[in-house]
Amino acid sequence: MKRRIFAHHLNNFTMATNRTFTMLKPDATTAGNTGKIIDRIIQAGFTIKAMKWTQLSQAQAESFYEVHSERPFYGELVEYMTSGPIVAAILEKDDAVASFRELIGSTNPAEAAPGTIRADFAKSIAANAVHGSDSDENAAIEGRFYFSEREEA
Ligand code: UDP
Ligand code: MG
Repeated sequence: MKRRIFAHHLNNFTMATNRTFTMLKPDATTAGNTGKIIDRIIQAGFTIKAMKWTQLSQAQAESFYEVHSERPFYGELVEYMTSGPIVAAILEKDDAVASFRELIGSTNPAEAAPGTIRADFAKSIAANAVHGSDSDENAAIEGRFYFSEREEA
């Protein structure tokens, strides 16, 4: 019994540090870049734990981006994120959050390092192809926004 409890806690810890959450944004899905971006993610060593093609409602987008509600671009961001399909996914890799942020590059594609997903696919600072969680805590919250535990591979 003691061992079981220990294993449970260890598993939760491992899950948090090895996972991140992404969305391929409407500019990426509508431009036909979904497959190319997913391939980059897989080639970079991420394992897909869950994935779905869907579209955000106004209320869902407002809720997902609640943390940015005081920022000047919030209204435009919500409008943009509801403008077309998105692909939501939970990804796994060692040091997933930091590793994925490195793969996607800076928020502004003009500042994104060459070879990053945003440098190669983003259209603008708003329409920047992909979302990547900024912490283990937010990765877990954002993943649960779209997926139940039963939906994870
Ligand atoms: N964004 C925007 N204008 C800005 C900054 C951000 O439209 O000046 C959008 C952009 O789509 C970005 C999202 O808001 O990806 C969230 O902003 P954040 O600062 O969290 O950037 P990220 O973590 O996505 O790099
Ligand atoms: Mg962010």
